[in-house]
Amino acid sequence: MSVLIVGSTALDSIKTPKAENPRLLGGSASHAAVAASFFAPVKMVGIVGKDFPKKYVQLYQRHKIDLEGLQIADGKTFHWSGEYEINMNNRRTLETELGVFETFSPKLPESYRSADFVLLANIAPSLQHHVLDQMRRPKFVVADTMDLWLNIALADLIKLLKRVDGFVLNDSEARQLTQEDNLMAALKKLHKLGPKFVIIKKGEHGATLSIRNGAKTEFFMSPAYPLNRVVDPTGAGDSFVGAMMGYLSTARGPIEQNIRRGMIYGSVVASFCCEGFGLKMTTRVTKHTIEKRVKDLEKLVRF
Ligand code: AMP
Repeated sequence: MSVLIVGSTALDSIKTPKAENPRLLGGSASHAAVAASFFAPVKMVGIVGKDFPKKYVQLYQRHKIDLEGLQIADGKTFHWSGEYEINMNNRRTLETELGVFETFSPKLPESYRSADFVLLANIAPSLQHHVLDQMRRPKFVVADTMDLWLNIALADLIKLLKRVDGFVLNDSEARQLTQEDNLMAALKKLHKLGPKFVIIKKGEHGATLSIRNGAKTEFFMSPAYPLNRVVDPTGAGDSFVGAMMGYLSTARGPIEQNIRRGMIYGSVVASFCCEGFGLKMTTRVTKHTIEKRVKDLEKLVRF
């Protein structure tokens, strides 16, 4: 089964205390699609401008990502620049140039509409709705978001949450959206907005899953893979959810049974993402290196 991924396809200029790298391949869809590609065929929906380097298209192709849904339009590719503090958990957006995203209206190729697994990676909620409107009957839909949409498109996001099975967001976004400081209380409120599966990401502290099953709620704590050195965490969240969706689309049995292991695969692929700028290290990953880190994590949490 394939995974359909919509999100931003971007050029990222990233500054850390140690280095500066302009115009790397980035965007939520790019990170998620490459991460998912280690597990399943991926269909990507996005838009780039005529300035988008050929080598980045070739990178998608090397990962066998279906690009029929990638529009190439007149104008400039979405450009995001951000700067990290010494504590890499703190990031500041320096500039967002929407470029061709300003007028983007995703139109899904016929072959995309029957995908069973859909990842609405971080992008304006109106575009996430628009993609869902064109899908037949997906089996499992997950949405990601960012603080920007909580600030400027909250009503659209709330509507979207009624249409998805899973919602993935980071801890500060969960606190902002629910006005709850306590994450367990936030999880409860997030379920009330619609999704059965809610995952709160906590960066280097892993992620918490909550599954609502009628009157019962189950939890799972997924660790982050401990790294000695983080080079650039941009896209770690997208890699996490991309790998999880890729894994889920090929795993047999119900989502409830597989999602915990899916999160572990997500943590592992996200760890590779953090070890290099942009997609540099994620693209070097192999099935073997993924499985090795999964085994390491299994040992770390056994007691
Ligand atoms: P993450 O580190 O998981 O939060 O994801 C970072 C990625 O999000 C970068 O590659 C950016 O290109 C992308 N991004 C930043 N701002 C936006 C935005 N407003 N809409 C969509 N994607 C964005």
